[in-house]
Amino acid sequence: MIEVRNLRKTYNIDGQILKAVDEVSFSVKKGEMVSIIGHSGSGKTTLLSLIGGLTRPDSGQVLIDRENIWSMTDDVLSEFRNRKMNFIYQFSSLIPTLTSLENILLPTAFGKEYGADTEKHARELLEIVGLNEKINSFPSHLSGGQQRRIAIARAFVNRPAIVLADEPTGDLDEETESEVLELFSRINRDEQTTFIMVTHNKDIASKAQKRFSMSNGVLSEIS
Ligand code: ADP
Ligand code: MG
Repeated sequence: MIEVRNLRKTYNIDGQILKAVDEVSFSVKKGEMVSIIGHSGSGKTTLLSLIGGLTRPDSGQVLIDRENIWSMTDDVLSEFRNRKMNFIYQFSSLIPTLTSLENILLPTAFGKEYGADTEKHARELLEIVGLNEKINSFPSHLSGGQQRRIAIARAFVNRPAIVLADEPTGDLDEETESEVLELFSRINRDEQTTFIMVTHNKDIASKAQKRFSMSNGVLSEIS
């Protein structure tokens, strides 16, 4: 489903060339869960943003369902991204003036996706993240972990085929972290969602079907 070929991204910092992503190639099948670990500064976030169509590579290809995303025009790419992918960041924030349900529905407000089924799906996701009773609560009345779970539910409301998660549990306590992981596994199983997840947590990394580590822009598979 995702094929990355010889992907490369450099930054020029005061005349010094930094290879943030250095000739990375790998592929991910539909429904697979992939983890990437690596030290800070090793290029993990840059790699995710190249795959997610947010940062243009210097060279190389990202094929999603055989389509080369970096040969698309900006409009086509942005539509493609909205339709297929979603992102979960370490500090995903909610809109303070919207309730839990409204926050989850936010991604559908900008697209054609909003239908009778949409709110039903949002309510199902609330149930999956275990926050039914907080449906009408505002973020200020939720704990950090609960806010994170709402942000995660929001990432799935459009039924993305691909979820790119950048240290999604980085600032959570262990218990919430394992709940979130459990949630990812369930969604991965139930909705056949393909996951690429950057994480510091070795336990989380070890549960993925395919595991990589990144060092100085170079990606290697862990067997
Ligand atoms: P990680 O997510 O593994 O911590 P990053 O992908 O954020 O690593 O960064 C990889 C390297 O690229 C780092 O050395 C970082 O400083 C550099 N870098 C990232 N983004 C930029 C940018 N926009 N401009 C210049 N250098 C950058
Ligand atoms: Mg990072």
